[in-house]
Amino acid sequence: RCLALHATRLPGSPCPGVMLVLRDVSELRRLENLRRELVANVSHELKTPLAAIKAYAETLRLGAVNDPEINLTFVHRIEEQAERLHELILDILQIARVEAGQEAFEICDVPLHELIEECLAQFADLAQSKRVELIGPPIDQEIFVRGDEEGVRTILNNLVDNAIKYTPADGRVTVRCTIETSAVMLEVQDTGIGIAEKDQARVFERFYRVDKARSREMGGTGLGLSIVKHLSQALGGSVGLDSTIGKGSTFRVHLPRAMSGNK
Ligand code: ADP
Repeated sequence: RCLALHATRLPGSPCPGVMLVLRDVSELRRLENLRRELVANVSHELKTPLAAIKAYAETLRLGAVNDPEINLTFVHRIEEQAERLHELILDILQIARVEAGQEAFEICDVPLHELIEECLAQFADLAQSKRVELIGPPIDQEIFVRGDEEGVRTILNNLVDNAIKYTPADGRVTVRCTIETSAVMLEVQDTGIGIAEKDQARVFERFYRVDKARSREMGGTGLGLSIVKHLSQALGGSVGLDSTIGKGSTFRVHLPRAMSGNK
């Protein structure tokens, strides 16, 4: 804990003395450290797409604009980098809110089976284009967790998105749910590239990527798993990972189980 000590001379007091005030500032310090660290990471991450946009625009201005082919390619690249900036900003805002404990949750019974169905439909085209098979839980399974619908949706989407991204063609991504005594276990398993043991804890840190160039190429912001970890914990759950290089990864999220509706 961090304690701040203030000594104040008592004004107008007949006896000379001081008043000592002890204040717990741990939470203030924690938020200040988070803010400082986030600003340092964020400025670095934002500079890359911004520098690319400026370089493309400058090359166009210096003459490339007159070559229709280069012109179009560069405009596309500017659009791609602008999209990357947009995603980064949305993720940064979310992580700042969740880390500071300021995400406004609406706690209710969330139909996890419906969110999984929606998520698999959303990623069906991407999976198909990569020739990755997507497998969901049995269709008659009804599973409710106690949490915030948008938060649970973000956890699920980030894990499935990663599983597809890091699984080469002809691989498989499987989403499963298991009801436990007081929790529901959500598993997202892939047959992808896997994560070395030394990186397994670090992938949950913000902006940590095992292979920076590869992840950037895949369009990641480096914040997905950090958001998953903070959201899971803020919703009273946890996240874990089992992985073997070259074989694949399984991410497991435990979330509080709703007291009714599960079958
Ligand atoms: P990114 O946006 O880069 O995917 P994440 O925070 O979601 O950021 O993931 C952090 C890093 O963890 C990724 O860059 C990648 O190296 C690794 N990773 C995440 N999910 C998987 C997975 N299913 N298989 C292999 N590596 C993964």
